[in-house]
Amino acid sequence: MTPARTPRGAGATSRPTTKRKRRKPDPVAIWVRRLERTRPNLVDDVLAGLASIYGRETWQRRLDPTSELILTILTQNTADVNAEKAFEGLRGAYPSGLPREAHRPGLGWGGTGLSEGAPPDWMAVETAPLAELIDVIRPGGLGPQKAPRIQATLRTIREARGDHALEFLGEMAPLEARDWLTAIDGIGKKTASVLLLFCFDQPLMPVDRHVERVSHRIGLIPAKATADQAHDYYLAMLPADEADWEHANTAYEAHVNLIHHGRAICHARKPDCAACPVRARCRFIDPKAP
Ligand code: SF4
Repeated sequence: MTPARTPRGAGATSRPTTKRKRRKPDPVAIWVRRLERTRPNLVDDVLAGLASIYGRETWQRRLDPTSELILTILTQNTADVNAEKAFEGLRGAYPSGLPREAHRPGLGWGGTGLSEGAPPDWMAVETAPLAELIDVIRPGGLGPQKAPRIQATLRTIREARGDHALEFLGEMAPLEARDWLTAIDGIGKKTASVLLLFCFDQPLMPVDRHVERVSHRIGLIPAKATADQAHDYYLAMLPADEADWEHANTAYEAHVNLIHHGRAICHARKPDCAACPVRARCRFIDPKAP
């Protein structure tokens, strides 16, 4: 006699036939664990070496967040000194009458610093005739690309929030704030991290071409990691403890000193390795460096 079939879910002890999906290994976590195992204290030693010649700057806000964002867009693919000219052009062409503010660029900034002045009238910038805005920011380079990007960014912010103010980002968790910014077309992790780090001291490390170059040479990030991916490697390597703000500020020190090192010593073409305080741990001059 054929036994009656037990209906599914009626107390039968049948084994599930589907295999459990294995979670994909996280390449960032794997890298960080390997670095700790094979090159212990690398991050701390590099930061200490850089601090020995550049010092440890304490964080201070350098501009209001909307100005910081637009200035950062103006720095894309151009020298900081040119971005300053374009930003001063915006101030002159679209005066706002708002309180004046000082620009505190600090170490790592490649320009001379903006003069003290009021932020531009962002509504006037957003609604300016495109050809006019291109002319205003032309001294910064890439005006035809940047003018529409700036207007689209300002429009997106105003449509989402009712005005152009970005102070609310300081109340958000760092990654939530970064996601809010990177949802805007044309804003990547670097630009978002610059704003959040320099305006709110949030523990996000912006990776520009200098930071990327120095990091690759020392071996802080994998050889194939892109600048975009490097943001996530640094998030894991510089874990922030929000209860310990001094520690959270490691991202600030790391960014400022690595970018300055890329400009001052670890040049793209001829790095001055003899003068470098981290040469003992750099894989560019010794592929087996500890
Ligand atoms: S040793 Fe040379 S390549 Fe390495 S970080 Fe220093 S300057 Fe750059």
